[in-house]
Amino acid sequence: MKNKVGIGYDIHRLIEGRKLFLGGIEIPYILGLLGHSDGDALIHALCDALLGALALGDIGEHFPDTDPEYQGIASCQLLSAVKELVDKSGYKINNIDAVIIAQEPVLTPFKKQMKQKLCTLLTLNADCLNIKAKTNEGIGQVGNIEAIACYVVASLSYGG
Ligand code: MG
Repeated sequence: MKNKVGIGYDIHRLIEGRKLFLGGIEIPYILGLLGHSDGDALIHALCDALLGALALGDIGEHFPDTDPEYQGIASCQLLSAVKELVDKSGYKINNIDAVIIAQEPVLTPFKKQMKQKLCTLLTLNADCLNIKAKTNEGIGQVGNIEAIACYVVASLSYGG
């Protein structure tokens, strides 16, 4: 069996006048994430982790933020496109582990819904995807509620 691991990271600025999307769901909050797409930093980091494991570059190469086609696109659609690349490669996702770093809002009540959404998009069992949410202890831009950052690790295997 061949095993691969990929890591993804993303950070988006929090601004007024945008809806907050994380993990493919809308979360009620006074600020939203700035971005060419819907700004879903968790899905972007997840896409990068999967692309990284497949040695297929990064999300910016596949979906350039200069391309009007991706203006305002739901990041779920980007993840579905990356899932197609995973399927085409013959690799299967073993598990995904994610960390969201957000000072606000409190994300614990939404973790289950995010997990369900991502498991559905990736056709994964619930025991194969984990989401952790933490604050930045008030430190730096993330701690000052200027941004939300995400890290994702993905493990894939071929055969077996
Ligand atoms: Mg991004």
